[in-house]
Amino acid sequence: MSRARILVLHPALGPLDYRVPQGMTVEPGAIVVVPIGPRQYAGVVWEPERLPTEEIGDNRLRNLIAVADAPPIRAPLRRLIEWTADYYLAPLSSVLAMAVRSTAAFEASPTVVEYRATGLVPDRMTPQREQALERIGERQGLVRELATIADVSDAVIRGLCKVGAIEGVTVDTDSPYPRPDPAFGPPALNPEQAAVAETLRAAVEARRFQPFLLDGVTGSGKTEAYFEAVAAAIAAGRQTLVLLPEIALTEPFLKRFAARFGCDPVAWHSGLRTSQRRRAWRAIARGEALVTVGARSALFLPYADLGLIVVDEAHESSFKQEEGVHYHARDVAVMRGKFESAAVVLASATPAIETRYQVELGRYAELKLPGRYGRAELPEIEPIDLIATPPERGRWLAPPLVLAIDATLARGEQSLLFLNRRGYAPLTLCRHCGHRFQCPNCTAWMVEHRLIRRLSCHHCGHTVPTPEICPECEEPDSLVACGPGVERIADEVAALWPDARTAIVTSDTLWSPAKAAEFVHRMEQGEIDIVVGTQLVTKGYHFPNLTLVGVVDADLGLDGGDLRASERTFQQIMQVSGRAGRGEKPGKVFIQTHAPDAPVMQALVSGDADSFYAAETEARRDAEAPPFGRYAAIIVSSEDRAAAEETARMIGRTAPQTEAMHVYGPAPAPLAMLRGRHRYRLLVHARRAFDVQDVIREWLGGLEWGAKVRVAVDVDPYSF
Ligand code: ADP
Ligand code: ZN
Repeated sequence: MSRARILVLHPALGPLDYRVPQGMTVEPGAIVVVPIGPRQYAGVVWEPERLPTEEIGDNRLRNLIAVADAPPIRAPLRRLIEWTADYYLAPLSSVLAMAVRSTAAFEASPTVVEYRATGLVPDRMTPQREQALERIGERQGLVRELATIADVSDAVIRGLCKVGAIEGVTVDTDSPYPRPDPAFGPPALNPEQAAVAETLRAAVEARRFQPFLLDGVTGSGKTEAYFEAVAAAIAAGRQTLVLLPEIALTEPFLKRFAARFGCDPVAWHSGLRTSQRRRAWRAIARGEALVTVGARSALFLPYADLGLIVVDEAHESSFKQEEGVHYHARDVAVMRGKFESAAVVLASATPAIETRYQVELGRYAELKLPGRYGRAELPEIEPIDLIATPPERGRWLAPPLVLAIDATLARGEQSLLFLNRRGYAPLTLCRHCGHRFQCPNCTAWMVEHRLIRRLSCHHCGHTVPTPEICPECEEPDSLVACGPGVERIADEVAALWPDARTAIVTSDTLWSPAKAAEFVHRMEQGEIDIVVGTQLVTKGYHFPNLTLVGVVDADLGLDGGDLRASERTFQQIMQVSGRAGRGEKPGKVFIQTHAPDAPVMQALVSGDADSFYAAETEARRDAEAPPFGRYAAIIVSSEDRAAAEETARMIGRTAPQTEAMHVYGPAPAPLAMLRGRHRYRLLVHARRAFDVQDVIREWLGGLEWGAKVRVAVDVDPYSF
């Protein structure tokens, strides 16, 4: 009799054995359908020797139901799934779910029925129907997707179908993608770029694992250089994955890609419809999708033959996933490259200390682009001392910055004001009774969003209309906004320069690729004079007429004071500075700060990144912080505060005592309450070579806690 070990897509179940019925053949990696109780689940055939489980007698085995009409999950991805589960202490099935998820890729039929409006106006029009048809417009999708877009129930959509206002259309998810042409628009590279391109091309052609750090200042033409590696992969018939940190960034990327290769790459992100997801998944698995650009989740797609992985803006913190399986996409990308025998390129103008250290150890080869492409120069950075030259009362822009914006407007050039805070004001309080508006679900203030007249929590999304009077003391006109957000800066800009055309750029305003494309277009057409934006504008964009950058509060990132604060501030300000002077005209950057003498400010002004990084690296070495030591956070959470605290204390009490590892806490986590859950944190600190995962696995594996309590481990947490 033949049996197979199956890793089932079920969060609470480990691997299970099944009987392979007569006439069915399965190989490792095959996607199959199995019974569990009365229900059916998808799963993947695994090598039994790699997944030990209880032996079950032959007579108790149940039959596999079917093998899916989909390419099998290949060994390199199976190894990556095992490695990720092992390293990040996550259940195997949760990691597997990132690879085969709800794409429904394993359903037999390659077609999907989607729905769209026919233009027919129903005889009986209700407010809900009207809303649905208006919001759906030209869009197409599953009933559920349309219902979400329209914010109505599924029944409203089905009702509209019955009366002919919405119709079903069959979408073939096996229709082919265009093939990028490596010879379509080859650029004339400068000598530095040509050298980088040559090394990368050779690495791709060698068909083996080779990690690179592509370290080039902003505007040095890193993209053009690594595109030559993409061209080499296409020519060799191998696939490429380009990871980008933000969906908003894909739009400018797609334009450049199309100019170079004659068509769009396959995009993979959370905004895709089911049919798009399924089409991309299948084409990637069959090896027909040659270039995929995506968010971090694209790392777990079933590429048929992956030859190159590029992580663009590799220093970005958004590559760190903080929910579900806690993983760092930059690090997983390198591991995937290893299992696939692929070249891996981490591109950044401000590489993380951890990445620089890998170069120092000789594990990653460093490629440098030291100057900007063409005649563009790096902008000069000047500090504005907020104590010596403060803004007027109730204002946030200091006189030297105001003068610089005056001059920039007069020259017909564009300015960018950067403040990493969405909304109008981060805190609203009552000046009569002192009441502050706090989120009921989180340890966080409610942030005023004046454009939509609401207070919102930036952690859980809880939102209420902005009250007119204080709910505590009912005193009228007593509420005051404290501190600035981008909307408040935009107000100040409007007051100072009433004729200037401004745009606010945050995730509230640029929430879709289409919105991002519209913004890029307006900037390029010169329809915007002053941009006020959050970190969303700090990366990727190339606007030749943008010559002035003002950093409204350079000290903001230094708050909290964890060991990464200075590095994060340096990276963020270098990135936003990188938006200035990218064309023929020189750029200038002002940074408003209360601490112009702080080492990070001095480094920014002098441009001496090397000494700054050397000092930061030494500080890390002294503290045995990463990359010289390691951390893992254990987060214990529950809606019941006492239960969370008790469990956290119990975990703390049972902590293994070893010389190579120290456990701090428990203490309330940095966000002590989040989405209604109370959170406690234990921080494990260990020597670099110490196998923390093994110790934590054994330690937590021997403990039990109540069903109301959740315990999550964050290996290599972003803040420490
Ligand atoms: P980085 O990613 O290093 O910040 P980019 O790749 O965005 O830099 O390049 C900066 C600008 O220079 C872009 O507009 C890009 O199109 C242009 N550029 C770079 N290299 C070339 C080249 N070889 N030929 C033409 N334009 C180039
Ligand atoms: Zn909240």
